[in-house]
Amino acid sequence: MQSITVLGSTGSIGLSTLDVIRRHPDRYRAFALCAHSQVDKLYEQCLEFQPSFAVLRDAKLAAQLAERFVAVGLKTEVRHGIEALVELSSLSEVDAVMAAIVGAAGLEPTLAAAKAGKKIMLANKEVLVMAGELFMRAVREHGATLLPVDSEHNAIFQSLPGDFSRGLNQCGVQKILLTASGGPFRNTPLVDLAGVTPEQACAHPNWVMGRKISVDSATMMNKGLEVIEAHWLFNAPPEMIQVVVHPQSVIHSAVQYVDGSVLAQMGNPDMRTPIAFSMAWPERIASGVEPLDLFKIAHLDFVAPDFERFRCLQLAYDVLREGGTAPAILNAANEVAVAAFLDGHLPFLGIAKLDEAVLQALPAGPEGSLADVLAADSEARRIAGKMVQERCFA
Ligand code: NAD
Ligand code: MG
Repeated sequence: MQSITVLGSTGSIGLSTLDVIRRHPDRYRAFALCAHSQVDKLYEQCLEFQPSFAVLRDAKLAAQLAERFVAVGLKTEVRHGIEALVELSSLSEVDAVMAAIVGAAGLEPTLAAAKAGKKIMLANKEVLVMAGELFMRAVREHGATLLPVDSEHNAIFQSLPGDFSRGLNQCGVQKILLTASGGPFRNTPLVDLAGVTPEQACAHPNWVMGRKISVDSATMMNKGLEVIEAHWLFNAPPEMIQVVVHPQSVIHSAVQYVDGSVLAQMGNPDMRTPIAFSMAWPERIASGVEPLDLFKIAHLDFVAPDFERFRCLQLAYDVLREGGTAPAILNAANEVAVAAFLDGHLPFLGIAKLDEAVLQALPAGPEGSLADVLAADSEARRIAGKMVQERCFA
């Protein structure tokens, strides 16, 4: 029986994770369910899964939740704040942590899980973007097991030999082919992109996801963050990672070898596949995902990405090459820009402009310690917030 802490249980990945847990009560138990502020949803989840702990971000909401538990006689203990997330990701009773908080907020608890040598199922790609070097070092030094949940990285993991950590060149790998759907605006005329609404940006053609990652998919920043994520997970230099636009999202990514072989992982676009894979690895369990029907799909398309249209993708390659805190700065600027877009304070095309302006305004330093990363993150947020307030790209 594995006890799992789910960071971000009320989100899209969190719900899919609980669905897989629900299918295998003999193998998995939800130890702690953690959310930001969706009290009602977390309450329902706790009634069903009866975790030992529930966590909300603020004390007032946590107190409300605790009262409701008392009223129904539920023993789940309620905590709040980042300290609770850190503790419940590293306690000895915890076997595995599903890192499914969105954005920089997930960094500290996920890093704590690495330092406690846990099995980490990583969806929260921003952790690797912000602090890839620190995080991977913590994983190595503390013997943590890191399993990628992001569908592309999970596909790459499945397509690599088990001992890939000895080096991709040694394994005969020539290239990582990171597939991308191209999002909802792949073919939208450029002039029309200026007036795109949050609802249009969040209507992803193939995947149902949280709002932040949906906007990132529309700008292709998501693919840029994934290039950085792949770099850290597989120790792959940027020139070895090729983005391939594949609108059907059936091939979730592939690995090209020196002998001409290309190994890919395919499946329906449903996150329960990589989630179940990461939970059961090295075994396989049922996930509830419909089997892939190749006859129904009939054909698959591939095109090169357009770096002009998707400026964010270029920015991500640039910060990866620059290194240090540059990726953390881009990530922070982008979180502010996406939130401003979703709130109606920034046009869609302003996202890439703001990201680029913050990168220009704030020089990167070395990624020395967590404090360096957090300082770069908060300074980038401050600058980005000011630009939004001054309506620089409105
Ligand atoms: P979401 O917005 O649906 O859910 C985010 C979850 O994090 C929620 O439970 C929310 O309560 C919690 N959360 C947010 N801020 C928090 C805070 N400060 N403290 C505690 N909890 C907090 O997002 P999602 O789509 O599930 O994505 C989660 C992560 O997984 C992201 O990093 C995303 O890039 C990655 N990911 C998602 C998908 C997908 O299909 N949804 C695919 C690949 C990777
Ligand atoms: Mg992905």
